[in-house]
Amino acid sequence: MDKDFKIAVIGSGTMGNGIAHVAAQSGFCTLLIDINQQQLKKASSTIEKNLDRQINKQIISESDKQNILNNISFNTDIHFCKDMDLVIEAVPEKYDLKASIFKELDGICKKSTILASNTSSISISDLGDQTKRPENIIGMHFMNPVPIMKLVEVIKTIHTSKATVQSVIELSKQMKKIPVECNDYPGFVSNRILMPMINEAIFCLEQNVAEKEAIDEIMKLGMAHPMGPLALADFIGLDVCLDIMEVLQVGFNDSKYRPCDLLKKMVSSGLLGRKSGRGFYTYD
Ligand code: NAD
Repeated sequence: MDKDFKIAVIGSGTMGNGIAHVAAQSGFCTLLIDINQQQLKKASSTIEKNLDRQINKQIISESDKQNILNNISFNTDIHFCKDMDLVIEAVPEKYDLKASIFKELDGICKKSTILASNTSSISISDLGDQTKRPENIIGMHFMNPVPIMKLVEVIKTIHTSKATVQSVIELSKQMKKIPVECNDYPGFVSNRILMPMINEAIFCLEQNVAEKEAIDEIMKLGMAHPMGPLALADFIGLDVCLDIMEVLQVGFNDSKYRPCDLLKKMVSSGLLGRKSGRGFYTYD
């Protein structure tokens, strides 16, 4: 992809600001869109903070930081996606919301634009059905935190063209990520395996099998996981975890994917993990 390839990211939350950060750092002209102006401000300061962290680690220089920031623009109006070559949607994990955004983008963007979703679990094929360009629809599932994690899970539907897959693979590599392809099933590979493990850890806590610290320590020491499942759930966001379990439960119509009651109760009480200041643990 040459450097005048233009990328837009829709949704500037946990994932969106990270995706915009790496796109801009790879030299692409990047547009970050959110309906919430406050959220855009927060995203801009998060990106600056993360760039400063990269300077402290001597990954980038002060002048790189300025160039990267110059590559990003922020807007609340989705119509600015008109000239983009790739749009990556990263709004909350709600089917109706994502479907309406795909429909709108299909009407706004030029015919050749690739529309990608960073969804954790929602059917890419169903999102593609909202458009008249199913061959240009694909999943680009980045991992959190985006500037650090190497994987992009690239999700193909029956209709996704080889050219679209090739472009997204090449682009992911240019973003210094490692793309791995899979097919469109609920939760794909990553969350079909990860989320039931997190959900089971919450059942363990609910049934008092062990204290939260002990559950996390057992999985860290025993399985060589860098984070325990409960700390990881806080990091991902408990609302995101619940949304994914619900997609798995409906998608496979199998009770083994039922979300734990404790997870549901915590989400409805606003205990969402790091982003709300409290989940299984408490954060400043
Ligand atoms: P988030 O709640 O942190 O951010 C979502 C953002 O979307 C918010 O800033 C919100 O204002 C914005 N938004 C809502 N409606 C919008 C609209 N109509 N137009 C533009 N912006 C809108 O969510 P997140 O954790 O960044 O998750 C985003 C997506 O990424 C979800 O599909 C999630 O499943 C997926 N994902 C999350 C993680 C994770 O660890 N959090 C990891 C991989 C993938």
